[in-house]
Amino acid sequence: MPKNIIVSNRLPVQVENKNQVWTFTPTSGGLATGLKSVHEEGDSLWIGWPGVSDDLLSKKNKKQINETLSKNQFRAVFLDDNELDHFYLGFSNKCLWPLFHYFIEYQKFDIDQWEYYTLVNQKFADEVLNVIEDGDIVWIHDYQLLLCPQMIKEIKPEVTVGFFLHIPFPSFEIFRIFPKREDLLNGILGSDLIGFHTFDYQRHFLSSVKRILNLDVNYNVIYHQGREIEVNTFPMGIDFKKFEKASYDNIQKSGLESSELKKQINVHKLENRGKLILSIDRLDYTKGIINRLLAFERFLDNNIEYHDKVRLVMLAVPSRSEVSQYKILKRQTDEVVGRINGKFATVNWTPVWYYYRSMDFENLIDLYVSSDIAMITPLRDGMNLVAKEYLATRVNNDGVLILSELAGASKEIPQALVVNPFDIEELAESIKTAIEMPLKEQKERNIISRNRIERYDIEKWSSSFMKSLKDHAFNLGTSKVKLINSKIAKQIETSYRNSNKKLLFLDYDGTLINFHKNPEKAIPSIEVLKLIEKLKSNSNTDVVIISGRSHLFMDKYFSSLNIILIAEHGLFIKNKEDSWKKKKGLTIEWKEHLLPILNTFTDNTPGTFIEHKTNSVVWHYRKADPELGKTRSIELKTVLQSLLPNGLSLLDGNKIIELVSSDVNKGVAALDISNKKKYDFILAAGDDVPDENMFTSLPENSYTIKIGKKKTSANYFLRKTEDLIKLLSLLE
Ligand code: UDP
Repeated sequence: MPKNIIVSNRLPVQVENKNQVWTFTPTSGGLATGLKSVHEEGDSLWIGWPGVSDDLLSKKNKKQINETLSKNQFRAVFLDDNELDHFYLGFSNKCLWPLFHYFIEYQKFDIDQWEYYTLVNQKFADEVLNVIEDGDIVWIHDYQLLLCPQMIKEIKPEVTVGFFLHIPFPSFEIFRIFPKREDLLNGILGSDLIGFHTFDYQRHFLSSVKRILNLDVNYNVIYHQGREIEVNTFPMGIDFKKFEKASYDNIQKSGLESSELKKQINVHKLENRGKLILSIDRLDYTKGIINRLLAFERFLDNNIEYHDKVRLVMLAVPSRSEVSQYKILKRQTDEVVGRINGKFATVNWTPVWYYYRSMDFENLIDLYVSSDIAMITPLRDGMNLVAKEYLATRVNNDGVLILSELAGASKEIPQALVVNPFDIEELAESIKTAIEMPLKEQKERNIISRNRIERYDIEKWSSSFMKSLKDHAFNLGTSKVKLINSKIAKQIETSYRNSNKKLLFLDYDGTLINFHKNPEKAIPSIEVLKLIEKLKSNSNTDVVIISGRSHLFMDKYFSSLNIILIAEHGLFIKNKEDSWKKKKGLTIEWKEHLLPILNTFTDNTPGTFIEHKTNSVVWHYRKADPELGKTRSIELKTVLQSLLPNGLSLLDGNKIIELVSSDVNKGVAALDISNKKKYDFILAAGDDVPDENMFTSLPENSYTIKIGKKKTSANYFLRKTEDLIKLLSLLE
């Protein structure tokens, strides 16, 4: 039975050695809750680091740990201190974390740490590969494992891989500065489905894929190595019911049953000290803690009437305290809190209650339930669950959420007081607005927000992602166009060997050779030339290279092979030892009318250029900015289509628009050749729109093969040119 495999940096369980006894404590974070149902569904496995360094473990310990973990369908990836230091604290948290959160001045790229990052990603991938079987579904999580999808896909192309990024994906202009940008993108693109919290992160990711890897993207689908990769938005929710219930329980508790914290808060309320403003985050520079404190100070400066009537309860949870930026932040926070309290405190009033520690669930609920305002103003945050948790506990729909527009959560909760966390004046003003907001307005806003958070909860998040992933696997299995696997390749080889007259049509660009930004540089490799040489020497085999290239280009590289050559989509034909013959095509008078239009588009679109062939003209936009190029190509098509004379066609190819005589196409040319002899084996391979004519015109029993899996009328597909070369090598 196929299984679900979840892969995350940490397992949702903490393994510890307490007095010579191994203990296994489940952790209760959002991810653990969210993936509970995925993990419990059928035969599932969760792979990750168990929270204890390999340096402390003997071989026997590791065996014991894995045995106990396997009872709960967990499997450990063991990491030693050195790996943890370089891969986790180092590369993940000193390089990727700041870069992805736009703190480029903090990010430090260290090549040794990058190597550890690659090595540890491989360790995770190997652990998956040890247990994976065809039909399994893998879901990989977060920025620590960006290379893992590709490492799995490379070895097991038939398994379905999903990836979710829990932090922001930065804009292309930020991402481009990362030295190993291609590797990271290719790593993620091993996935079949890639999920982000917000549409902005999705947009930024697609922009980097287009600009850095120059891949084809259609809306949210990336075409890569013959796969269609879906990119989509799945905003992560919370366990709404759990927080709502905890809130009801908390409210019902009588004074004596209350926690110490709740009692302290009750004193504040009894003394009529006014509103409580809550601030909760890990002590991280992305969370905007200093700006929040400065805004509170500004608010107190500007509003003397609120002195003694408001209090900021600030919970800063220690985090990554070994990293220097975090140490500096701790010092700064202590200083600013000290300054504000020193400046405004009275005998009875301390404006900031500051806790530098983590709190258990009960105390957290005390804070949520008792606070009139929650001020969640990160400078950058993938989602921010605290904002959602605060609202979930507001069972009477009162309370005000001040929320940063740079937290992913702001996209789902526009009814909050949404602020720019860099604008201290606006932040200070928002505190006043929140304090003075009438109850009616608070309720109106919160009813809508709570509704959304309840509906799109953590369970919904994980089930929507899994559904998309499974749909992807299903569509692949039922596709009409079949991937040539080793079994089909063997069938083709047998059919080839058993036939008497064989014909091979091979397109050139994108089929025998990969695209190049400069078409003149895409010349045939020695390997390809040798392969064709061997194929044509097989008895009873005719090889045809059928291309849109000019006959001069074809002549230069292929004439010595003495095979059949077709150039300019069929305008020129050269039979084995014969000279080039030109088909009677449309005269070229149309050029003088249409060329000025192409020239204008070329002038206005940097990176585009015009290629003149004997009877056609091509407008290339491969080197232009991908989005501008695409937009201009659509405009150009619209303009040209309204002006096309009879007999002239517009070919919308791979990053080209070509104007060519209507009676010249690869279908007609291929059919002419295939009708000349009684061929009982025909194979045609191509990657682009003009090759479709060839696929449809050839007899039905031909092997028609699309390179890359876009919409096609071919019977089969291969993911990349290298796979076609492998297939053809079987026929040598
Ligand atoms: N949290 C906690 N104890 C604390 C403070 C916070 O368990 O003392 C939890 C909080 O309930 C929330 C999570 O930590 O679920 C923080 O998630 P968020 O997305 O807000 O920030 P992150 O830390 O992931 O950047």
